Amino acid sequence: MKIFHTVEEVVQWRTQELRETRFRETIGFVPTMGCLHSGHASLISQSVKENTYTVVSIFVNPSQFAPTEDLDNYPRTLPNDIKLLESLKVDVLFAPNAHVMYPQGIPLDVEEQKGPFVTVLGLSEKLEGKTRPNFFRGVATVVTKLFNIVMADVAYFGQKDIQQFIVLQCMVDELFVNTRLHMMPIVRNSNGLALSSRNKYLCPNSLKISENLYCGLKAAENAIRSLVPGASLSRSEVIDIVTQIWAPYIDSHDFKVDYVSLADFKTLVELPAVENTSVQQPLVISCAVYVTDREKPNTIVRLIDNIVI
Ligand code: AMP
Repeated sequence: MKIFHTVEEVVQWRTQELRETRFRETIGFVPTMGCLHSGHASLISQSVKENTYTVVSIFVNPSQFAPTEDLDNYPRTLPNDIKLLESLKVDVLFAPNAHVMYPQGIPLDVEEQKGPFVTVLGLSEKLEGKTRPNFFRGVATVVTKLFNIVMADVAYFGQKDIQQFIVLQCMVDELFVNTRLHMMPIVRNSNGLALSSRNKYLCPNSLKISENLYCGLKAAENAIRSLVPGASLSRSEVIDIVTQIWAPYIDSHDFKVDYVSLADFKTLVELPAVENTSVQQPLVISCAVYVTDREKPNTIVRLIDNIVI
């Protein structure tokens, strides 16, 4: 008889046993909200490459939307998504309705919600969480439900939503979830705009302007990477580099900055300064910007982006 005293031992034993009985088959999982683009496809292709089976879910998760947000208008393109998933050789698509995922119903007002919810305190309140207070509660809850259903060996998430990855990594580590997380790089258009389902809301002109989001972050990255040993840049100097690139679009009211952050990659704690990369811990420069559409000024789209250094 084996006697284990740590979670790791139990998990390792279970994984090994399972692998042996399943002839080393693995399940890769890619949770999405649909309206699939090449960013999603990169996660899916990686899963297909690395696993025996790939499961993709498409579920526009109500609990991560505030009552004021775009749940009803979120783009839904299931027939096209299915074609893409078939071409990528996905084994299973899981596309539940809200009743399946939330048997007690899921009103958007948190006060009225019933049933189990998962919160990751400490990380969820920062950055995105300031503007979207219950967003990561919704994400952690739906991902827990999906993980329990699919029981995948590994799940693939994009760096595009870096805080989501960091919150979920903490959840997986500290709730002892037996699914590994794999972070995939951001897929961008040829001028650097991060692909996003929400880009669909913007006219071509505003999309072109939105490419400057990345230019701002990239300028800060270049400045940090060219720091000589012993030199440093303060937090406000880094943020100024970003917002100077954006200044024409802030002045023209195309951009309204929600936040620009310079934070530790693991803890998301804001850094007072940054040093030469040989001594600096990994950091993330991230931003959220409201972009007003030039053709439909009532359409305001919140875009996020980041660079890890
Ligand atoms: P969503 O459908 O927006 O919930 O995204 C599903 C997954 O795709 C998440 O893990 C996202 O981070 C990832 N994703 C979305 N856009 C991109 C992108 N441009 N590059 C890489 N991954 C992405």
